[in-house]
Amino acid sequence: MSARFDCTSCGAPLVLRAEGVSDSLACEHCGAVLDARDPRHQILARYRAKLGRAPWLPIGARGTLRGEKLEVIGRQTRAVRYSGVIYQWNEYLLWNPYKGFRWLVESNGHWNLLKTVETKVKER
Ligand SMILES: [Zn+2]
Repeated sequence: MSARFDCTSCGAPLVLRAEGVSDSLACEHCGAVLDARDPRHQILARYRAKLGRAPWLPIGARGTLRGEKLEVIGRQTRAVRYSGVIYQWNEYLLWNPYKGFRWLVESNGHWNLLKTVETKVKER
């Protein structure tokens, strides 16, 4: 399910995807992070919107991957510095209300599909 409302900070039209499951929603127009569970959608944090490279997959895109119908409901760009070199990748959060979440990770044009492990990992 999804709900439409205007950003509490800048008034831009927003779509809350995975309603009832999402805790927060970031406005791509102004960088505000809004409370998805609060019907007034109060502002939790403000970030200056950074315009980077356009994402491969826009929020709201739908498709079938390995037989599962999935919708892109989130995206983050992550990076790590190792030996003075910055390595960067993009993580897309995919959602199906009957299947749950998947992560589609893109790094330099290479793609990996990940699923969160449900069981605890034993420490040695
Ligand atoms: Zn906004």
